[in-house]
Formats: sequence, C-alpha cells, structure tokens
Amino acid sequence: MFDFPKLDMRLTNISGYALSSPIDPPQNRRFSGGVRRLYKRDVVLVVVETADGLQGFATAGASSSAMREYFDGDSHGTFADIVNGTVAESLTGERIDSVTDAHDLLFETDLPDRLLYEAISAIDIALYDLRGKELGAPIYELLTDDFGSEPTTEIPLYASAGMYMEPEGYVGQAKTIEALGFFGYKYRPGIGIEGDRKTVDMLTETVGEMEIMLDVHTWWKLRDAYGERAIAELVEHATDRGAYWIEEPVEPDDREGYVALAASGAPLAGGESEETAAGLVELGRTGAVDFLQGDVRHHEGYTGCTSAIEFCRGRDVTFVPHNFGTWLGLIANAHLVAAAPEAGLLEYPIFARDPLLQTDADPGMYPFDLAFDIIHGEPSVTDGVLTVPDGPGLGLEVNLDVVEEYPFVEGPWTEFQYDE
Ligand SMILES: [Mg+2]
Repeated sequence: MFDFPKLDMRLTNISGYALSSPIDPPQNRRFSGGVRRLYKRDVVLVVVETADGLQGFATAGASSSAMREYFDGDSHGTFADIVNGTVAESLTGERIDSVTDAHDLLFETDLPDRLLYEAISAIDIALYDLRGKELGAPIYELLTDDFGSEPTTEIPLYASAGMYMEPEGYVGQAKTIEALGFFGYKYRPGIGIEGDRKTVDMLTETVGEMEIMLDVHTWWKLRDAYGERAIAELVEHATDRGAYWIEEPVEPDDREGYVALAASGAPLAGGESEETAAGLVELGRTGAVDFLQGDVRHHEGYTGCTSAIEFCRGRDVTFVPHNFGTWLGLIANAHLVAAAPEAGLLEYPIFARDPLLQTDADPGMYPFDLAFDIIHGEPSVTDGVLTVPDGPGLGLEVNLDVVEEYPFVEGPWTEFQYDE
C-alpha cells in the first residue's frame, strides 16, 4: 500500500453548488437515427473548509459518463443536495488524519453506489487540495511521494471535439487543431456507417503527424445502433487507417465484446463509464484495452486512480485520464498525470470561445463559458502542451463569483430525439 499524506485537520464545512452554463441558443446535432439537442452544461462545485480556515475545492457530476447521466436520470442538482446533506452530515466536525478516513466515513452512509463514489471522488480531490495548501506543495508532489516517481509537469494535450458533423466538418476542425499543436484530435462519429468510414478516410488522409482518436459510444448507445458486425468492421477500418485509439466501442460492461474486438489488434480505450477504481482495474485485467481512462473526478479521486495507475505500471496498458469539463477538472487530472509513472497525455475538451486557442475558425463543440470562468486566470498551454501549476494544492484560484453568475437550471443538459 501507499503512504497517503498524513492529515490532521478538522472539517468545519462542506458545501456543494450546482451550476449551469447555458448553451444559448440550444443546438441540434443530427446523428444516425435522430437529433441530439444540447441545452446547457452542469457542474457541481464542492468546497471543503477546515478549522484553520483553509478551503479545498473539487468539481463533480452526478455520474461518470455524460451518456449514462442522460439515460439513467440523476441530475446535478440532486448531487449538490447530497453533498449538502448526507456528505456534509457525515464529515462535518470530523478530524481527518488521512484522506482514506473520509472514504471510510462516506462508506458508512446509505448513499447508493453511484452517488457514493462521486462523493468520495470530490472529497478526495478537495482533501488533497487542502493537504497541498497546508504543506505549501502542489498535489503532484504529494503523489510522486506515493508513487516513488519523478514529476513530469509538461503534459501534451489531445483535443476532444467533433460531434456528429459531415466528414468535411471534422476535417476542418482537425486542421485547426493540428495547427494549434495538439497531440491528437478525438471526435465523435455516428453519422451513419458509410459517413463514419468516409470520415476516417478523409481525416487520416488530411492530417500529418497528429494522431486521430474515435470516441464511438454512439455506435452502440442509440436506438438505431449499428450492430455487432458493422461495429467490428468500422473498428477494423479505423485500425487499418492508423487510428491511435477507438474508445468505448461496445457497452462499457461488455467485457467479452472488448476482448473480441481487441483480438483483431484494434487499439481500444475505455474506463470512463466504470463506477469504481476497482472496475477500472478489472477492465485493465481483460487485456483488451491499450488505454485506460480513469478520472479523478469519478474514480475515487487520486486515491482510487492511484490503484489503476499502479495496475498499468509495467503492463501494456497506458493510463490516459478521461477529462471532459472545466479547467478546474483539467488541472485536477493534470496533477495525477504529472505524478504518475508511465502516463503522459491528457484530454483537453474544446469548447466555443476558448481563450487559450488563438485561431480564426472556432473548433469548439458548443459554448461552456463556466468551464473557463470557474478559475481566475488561465492554465498555461503552449503549442498543445500544458504546464501543470506548481502552487500549493491544485495551484489555482477558484472564482467563487460563478456561484452567483451561473445559477442552476433544472432539466436535462442534453436530449436525444429519435426519427420515427
Ligand atoms: Mg468518451
């Protein structure tokens, strides 16, 4: 086991704020078999305070996967209520000696598993932020002590964009992303079997050194799913064309499906939909994924992701965090990558009007202004490489004005409407 940082702090206040960033006007994206409507993006900001007046921060959601969240129900508003209710009741007034003490207290609650692991994740990150602030050290330094590793604080980013476009649309985005210096371009196909084939062809013919990744949850998730054979053929095609990875090609818990596709030599990625860190390791053990996509915001924080990273160590599977959300979440995952041995790549979601992207053609998927406004200042990104901040804890200053500026809006953030 690892030596977790030894804490000595009494928790005096735990708060969750549900926030919404409107997509105004709402967007319609046509996929194979219907239209996806996008209304807003939600975030829960979690703040943990100690008796000596320090604040630790984290962001959270109600589930580990945007798709699962849509199909399974719970809203971010519900999760903020749980933070202010059960989570606060369980931790307030407690003296925390090590981060896992907080895990143990949360395990004693009656929260259903999915919400329990979301809560553990947020509290774990906030406690690491607090511990770093106490010691005057960035989180990655605390973690490298655990790993016995040397930190790597310059992290190449791959751009995560492209949702249900004509092939020419993806190609235009990819050109912009490549010119900005990103390691790769990940996109979301799902416009139909022929269109998806054509997109792979056009993209791989267009880009130079930049890698191409496909995030293909649409292939199996939607009502008019492509079916097993078509998916196998598309995966093979993308592999032949040199795709860097193909992400979530079948249902997350379809381990046999992963293994069968991997047998053809396809580079597969997965993990974001796992509920627990143990689930990440279990997916890794199948040997079917080349890339394991844990996320400190969903897989029991740094503590949980550490077990997945230790699993990957010395094996033929690379830990590359799932990271889709705000700059706060980006930096939280960046500390993990900076410390982790054998990890060195991070997902950078591309939203409209991103202040870091100096480009005429905006490659943003949709507006998500809260993603940028949640912190003061900007992350340091040069030519597609992030420099992890070396200030105490997360090394960033949260902009608490967002609590007033982004009031929560009830209702789903996205909806899928199917053709009759
Ligand atoms: Mg994904």
